[in-house]
Amino acid sequence: MTSLTFYGGVDEIGGNKILLHDGGTRLFFDFGISYGRRKLFYEEYLNPRANAGLRDMLEMGLLPPLRGIYRDDLLEPDQWKAFSDRPGYEEMEVHGILLSHAHFDHSGYISFLNESIPVSTSLVTAVISKAIQDSAKSDFEKEVCFTLRREYVGNLYQSVKNSPAKQRPFLVFSGGEIPQKTREFWEDIPGKRGLDCCPLKPAGKIGNLPVRQFPVDHSIYGASAYAVETEAGWICYSGDLRFHGGAADYTRTFAEKAAALKPRVLICEGTRITDKNRVTEDEVYLNALDAVKRASGLVLADFGARNIERLLIFHRIAGETSRQLVVMPRDAYLLDKLSPVMDAVPTLEDSKDLLIYTDPKARLDTWEREIRGRLSSRLIGAETIRKNQGNYILCFSFWDLNDMVDLAPDNGVYIYSSSEVFDEEGGIDMKRLHSWADHFHLKKVGLPVPTKGANTPDDWEIPPEQLGLHASGHGGGPELLEMIKLISPDILVPVHTLHKEEFARALQGTGIKVRFPSPGQKMQV
Ligand SMILES: [Zn+2]
Repeated sequence: MTSLTFYGGVDEIGGNKILLHDGGTRLFFDFGISYGRRKLFYEEYLNPRANAGLRDMLEMGLLPPLRGIYRDDLLEPDQWKAFSDRPGYEEMEVHGILLSHAHFDHSGYISFLNESIPVSTSLVTAVISKAIQDSAKSDFEKEVCFTLRREYVGNLYQSVKNSPAKQRPFLVFSGGEIPQKTREFWEDIPGKRGLDCCPLKPAGKIGNLPVRQFPVDHSIYGASAYAVETEAGWICYSGDLRFHGGAADYTRTFAEKAAALKPRVLICEGTRITDKNRVTEDEVYLNALDAVKRASGLVLADFGARNIERLLIFHRIAGETSRQLVVMPRDAYLLDKLSPVMDAVPTLEDSKDLLIYTDPKARLDTWEREIRGRLSSRLIGAETIRKNQGNYILCFSFWDLNDMVDLAPDNGVYIYSSSEVFDEEGGIDMKRLHSWADHFHLKKVGLPVPTKGANTPDDWEIPPEQLGLHASGHGGGPELLEMIKLISPDILVPVHTLHKEEFARALQGTGIKVRFPSPGQKMQV
């Protein structure tokens, strides 16, 4: 018997937590944060309490009530009683996680899984996940690669003082030797805490089940689709993918190879299933190049966090417009860790036109002190940029807006190369971004503008003449459907979409049966 249970990713974008059970083996495709559900209860200053262990997460339905899969330091055994009457409560052992990529809506809640459960993923996803965790403030919901153990004292789950962090076992699809530099990076964390480390090992079967990994194109490097061989046949999982970025060929190769497996099931993302528009990364490059060529002052380029592909597009544009690219320290750290495992990513040491922005800080975290120390000749502060504004493209984001005061842009351009407004909060932030840009008289390029009063996300639109400065991480409907028809599974299960019925409509008469998952319900396949 083979079954799939969808604990997330149903009628929502992200939050994928898909359990595959076959014979004696259980594995999850991804274990991400359901941002939609989380936002129902929480916001910036109202968060699940780290010192409540798993209690808040289970009570609010952010984690499924599956006893046996979580960290043993976050819930006392007798506290499970409170959740044993919840719908879907089950006791189980899980043998592995297949992680598609390092976006938190796919990876975040690995944080709560028992540290004995291995995470299988691409080497690049492992590296990005750890670089993100190394360079972020410690966050209970983002302990993907290593955990800070807690103990239950006086009704609270408190951090164990002076104990080393505990690393999760990561098994990687690397396609070759893991570079020594990458091993050293993996087996240590910045700071004095120390790491109870677990070296990277090659990925293979999970439990009894053979697994194949396929690199795919997405808005973060290292994204993978997977296929798992079960009694029912091959089960394929798309993760997030697209057909219009620098690695589009990967996605096409995945489709061909998956088709050759004649799979029983394809679990497929459908973020943009109803969307036909298609801006490619090449078009983003050309449009952004044009905008930078027209600029005489400082260029601020705003694109999604960890989107190194986009960063490298702006690096290329900087080279072609006689500017230098200035990146934030956290991006410099990520570039530094990625370059040994990705040919496309230059080493900071060798790229003289890549500079690291240093804003004044009273205290530097260890990772930042290290990278500033090692690349001291490449640091640049607001004062230097201010004097020669036309010489730079600064990789910027909403969270860096404060620095504009020091930069005092004169004749500057703000290029918005990021996603559109999705929700009400996004609209509020977008209004703030406009206020900042207007205050400093920046020319705005690619920024969504309010139409009829901006009360709903639909009210924001990018002016038609400024379209084409952002390419989505997700394939559009026509290409997704073409891929599905090529793979031709017996059963198609749409996930990561708000428009599952579109799959059923569009695949009518193809012989592909579309089945809709229900949250927490077992689907026999
Ligand atoms: Zn993603």
